[in-house]
Amino acid sequence: MSNIRFKALEITFKRERKSPKNIGKKISGYYGELVFNDHIMQEYLTKAAYQSVKDAKCKGSRISRNMADQIASGMKSWALDRGVTHYTHWFHPLTGASAEKHDSFADPVSGGLAIERFEGKSLIQQEPDASSFPNGGIRNTFEARGYTAWDPTSPAFILENTLCIPTVFVSYTGEALDYKTPLLKSISALDEAATKVVKLFNEDVKRVFSNLGWEQEYFLIDAALYKARPDLGLTGRTVFGHSSAKDQQLSDHYFGTIQERALDFMKDLEFEAHRLGIPLKTRHNEVAPNQFECAPVYEEVNIAVDHNQLLMHLLDKVAKRHNLKALLHEKPFEGINGSGKHNNWSISTDTGINLLSPGKTHFENLRFLTILINVLKAVNDYADILRAHIANAGNDHRLGGHEAPPAIISAFIGTQLGKLLTQFENQQGEDALATNEFDGNINIPKIPEILLDNTDRNRTSPFAFTGNKFEFRAIGSSANCALPMIALNTIVAKQFSDFYASHEALVKEGYDKQEATIKLIKSYLKDVKNIVYEGNNYSDEWLEIAKERGLSNFKTTPEALQVLQQEKYIKLFDEMQVLTPVELAARYDIKMENYVQKLQIEARVIGDLALNHIIPTAIKYQNILIENVQGLNQIFDNDTFQKNAALQLDLIKTISADIDAIRKLVNEMRAQKEKLNALEDNPAKAIAYQQKVIPYFDKIRSHVDHLELHIDDELWTLPKYREMLFTM
Ligand code: ADP
Ligand code: MG
Repeated sequence: MSNIRFKALEITFKRERKSPKNIGKKISGYYGELVFNDHIMQEYLTKAAYQSVKDAKCKGSRISRNMADQIASGMKSWALDRGVTHYTHWFHPLTGASAEKHDSFADPVSGGLAIERFEGKSLIQQEPDASSFPNGGIRNTFEARGYTAWDPTSPAFILENTLCIPTVFVSYTGEALDYKTPLLKSISALDEAATKVVKLFNEDVKRVFSNLGWEQEYFLIDAALYKARPDLGLTGRTVFGHSSAKDQQLSDHYFGTIQERALDFMKDLEFEAHRLGIPLKTRHNEVAPNQFECAPVYEEVNIAVDHNQLLMHLLDKVAKRHNLKALLHEKPFEGINGSGKHNNWSISTDTGINLLSPGKTHFENLRFLTILINVLKAVNDYADILRAHIANAGNDHRLGGHEAPPAIISAFIGTQLGKLLTQFENQQGEDALATNEFDGNINIPKIPEILLDNTDRNRTSPFAFTGNKFEFRAIGSSANCALPMIALNTIVAKQFSDFYASHEALVKEGYDKQEATIKLIKSYLKDVKNIVYEGNNYSDEWLEIAKERGLSNFKTTPEALQVLQQEKYIKLFDEMQVLTPVELAARYDIKMENYVQKLQIEARVIGDLALNHIIPTAIKYQNILIENVQGLNQIFDNDTFQKNAALQLDLIKTISADIDAIRKLVNEMRAQKEKLNALEDNPAKAIAYQQKVIPYFDKIRSHVDHLELHIDDELWTLPKYREMLFTM
């Protein structure tokens, strides 16, 4: 049988089990062994060098050249002790993937020999030829220089015998060309603004950190089946495929017993992750068949983002070892749930306070309410920024599809907190606040302690308060977590700095500090109510309510991205010193271009598969039917023939109609594409592609999927949904 699908299935049936590498090993025995972590640094660095890394990490101080030489030398010794031969600056260009360019430690010396060298200057900075990374017009290719610079706040690690040094990536003129640069800036912006606010309550606080605990969803399918699906290989999703008779209807996969092969894979994944210090904690089956999720213990945002990037790399690498393919696309399979990434976000102080934890005393509760209300106000005022930062072509398939939150940003706080805010709003009139009398008697309702572990859950909300953190749930599974974190940190930083400025002004007017705080956060409650929604975010009712409230509902990526051009948002990023107007404009353009490129690839794959796989298969089957009909015609009289050939004749007609429609639609789509490709402006092209090319995808698909139902199973060349989703 030459059919590629059957060959692939044959391979999957013969798969042998691959035992995980960590059998019988204690996690604590290998945890972090590939990381140049605090403990290792103390072993390999001089006291002074160790201290300079610590200071850079905790206080943001500069590392001198001399110290950098010492640190590089220590790193080299540690790496060489572990069989490492190369080093690389590891960065996240705007392609979305991580990038590396490996250099050997070995330098030739006289006498035909070589010695291993690694100096401070190679640790601190490199100049990769960056001409092929997206830059959104920031650089011309003839000025291809880009610089990578060491980020000492994220530890170096070993991947495949290569020492990886986390770095930022900037242009010759200093503009950010990556995700890490604005992320680090957003972390400092939030730190600066939040620390001032928190100091109103706790004077000893010196720093505020943002934390992230991500949850990563993914699919696993057998590698042979994956290879027999060119659409999965090139676009990450199946552009064709009739739904399987059984998929997720019975909810029997969710939290079910993990299949042996998937579990072997997960154990290996965890082994690799733990060696790299990624604190993976949970694993479980998700809603769709062959869909899974893992989550680590939360960490400081910068580290957590790097760890998620690494984890996505490991998913791919470890899956290969198990002859599997991990799918990170937001919607690999039509008709069943796609994959997302939840970003659990909180802020905490250097003194160990989680600022989103309700307290026990009135004083702690006022602090909690101040933080909570400011965060909610930021989400209300800058909801469009959050939406823009989760937009990509893949996520458009999920948002609003009754499997993930809608494209409308809202927040959920739960009934208890909701009641508390109402109580707070009604408790004191403006008059009471205007007097100086209530000093020492702030009537903040006591937040029941029970709240800490009894938050209600609303799985349909894009931004839900879950007891001591917010869970941002609308992020796509393939996204770099830096994007939503940059957005969240920046808008909250802006809100805190506005709050602080207004607070200072009130104090100058003679208000007592606490009075000023209460007056301000009460004045925010109207905006807070506007963004809080406790109901079912999947319902039609919410669409109506949200419209009345004036909340945006940008259903597609180009619509969602367009806000990045608005003056209000350009100013926001500039004022918070996260992205300059030039950098933001470049990102806007890159994202629009990336969107177009993805759709161009999808359109091509759809056209090619339709013409090279689907139509030839349909014609083959049609010929079999025609032969059969001709044979029947020869052996039967006309009446008997009519009776016996009715089904075949019908099928021949149906297949002809589908073939005809597919050919016509593919031609139209191609013509449309050609017309749009002449557009020069990326945003205009993105919008046109969304409106004029995407509609063909579903139309063509419906005919192809219809053919799949009718054509002899033995002839069909593309692995079917039931095979990809249930063969493991
Ligand atoms: P669920 O599926 O109920 O949301 P999970 O255990 O899958 O719960 O994921 C919860 C995530 O939230 C984990 O990554 C966890 O580390 C993270 N998390 C817990 N507390 C905090 C916090 N204070 N700040 C940020 N993330 C947190
Ligand atoms: Mg969750």
